[in-house]
Amino acid sequence: MAQPTGYLRIKNIMTTVLVTGGAGYIGSHACVELLNANFDVLVLDNFCNSKATSIKRVEKITGKSITLIEGDVRDKATLTMLFSDHQIDAVMHFAGLKAVSDSVNNPLAYYDNNVMGSITLLEVMSEFSVNNIVFSSSATVYGFSDDKPIPETAPLSPFNPYGHNKRMVEQVLADISIAEPSWNIASLRYFNPVGAHPSGEIGEDPNGVPNNLMPYVSQVAVGKRERLSVFGNDYPTIDGTGVRDYIHVVDLALGHVAALNKLMQGCGLLTLNLGAGRGYSVLELVQAFEASTEQKIPYEIVNRRAGDIAIYFADASLAKQVLGWKTTKTLEDICRDAWRWQTKNPNGY
Ligand code: NAD
Ligand code: UDP
Repeated sequence: MAQPTGYLRIKNIMTTVLVTGGAGYIGSHACVELLNANFDVLVLDNFCNSKATSIKRVEKITGKSITLIEGDVRDKATLTMLFSDHQIDAVMHFAGLKAVSDSVNNPLAYYDNNVMGSITLLEVMSEFSVNNIVFSSSATVYGFSDDKPIPETAPLSPFNPYGHNKRMVEQVLADISIAEPSWNIASLRYFNPVGAHPSGEIGEDPNGVPNNLMPYVSQVAVGKRERLSVFGNDYPTIDGTGVRDYIHVVDLALGHVAALNKLMQGCGLLTLNLGAGRGYSVLELVQAFEASTEQKIPYEIVNRRAGDIAIYFADASLAKQVLGWKTTKTLEDICRDAWRWQTKNPNGY
């Protein structure tokens, strides 16, 4: 939102945040928490995987307005106009493509959108001396990690184009922070974002058949899918099914606000895991969903999914130490909120 004429900007107090990809799943939840924390919010989105309705819903939840610009982060002219027209203090960069299997089939599209898009954004930020950015990275950068839990110091070995994209952008950001120490950068490595806003107004709205567990379970519960296929029950885990670190999307969004507040203090480069710090198996999640929603989830055990890892969960201690942030929502909260979103919006937005 443009500041009114005569507005006195107080040095070092950031007020206006550009949220790229703000109409998407995580971005829309971040917008809610930014507005709740009294930041002004501008959203840039090309709607390749979202709808403007999500922004209307964010405004409904918060009672505050967002300036929404339809455009592409790879389009320098659009970015230049945006940074000229608005006094932007920081950027949260969510815009990107996120389907791992799609990235294997269409690597060029992923390098273009995720790497080139980030570089174009950083160039324009640099031109306008906007030096504060929170970047959506992913735990995918760790690849087949042997660490349980996984600390930020674990070796990075992504094994698909999507993971390489995230690692490359992290590297670009790290190099910028060495060359220009005035930059404040948070690369946030998300584990498994799930759930929805407790209002049931915003949530995950996947196209077609969901690849991920939680939206698939929700669609089975609502009757859109017959049964869940559980990919393997012969892993070395509590019940043989894969273990992941599920983080409620509202906790994740609050982690972004905490990171932004840290940037405001001048933090240099931060690279942090955002996860709950504990793992649940597929069957534990199914049981929690059934218990908290009173819905039956029929399932069958099928073969392992290629490329799946048995156990993946965060060492979440650094984010707690540096940001004073940790997750507060339970697996039951996650299931209840996902279900509320699904039942209120059976066909998405
Ligand atoms: P999403 O697809 O719901 O949101 C991404 C948004 O970016 C969408 O609104 C899309 O329309 C927009 N977008 C994509 N390319 C764009 C471009 N070139 N210009 C402008 N807008 C563009 O995805 P999400 O789950 O909200 O993920 C947000 C970010 O978090 C992504 O960068 C993703 O890689 C990262 N991430 C997601 C997960 C996850 O499991 N959801 C895990 C780790 C990291
Ligand atoms: N999974 C499953 N059935 C599905 C989708 C996922 O059994 O339809 C399992 C998957 O094998 C993994 C866990 O659920 O152990 C989480 O998968 P998801 O795709 O949500 O996250 P990721 O594997 O990318 O961390």
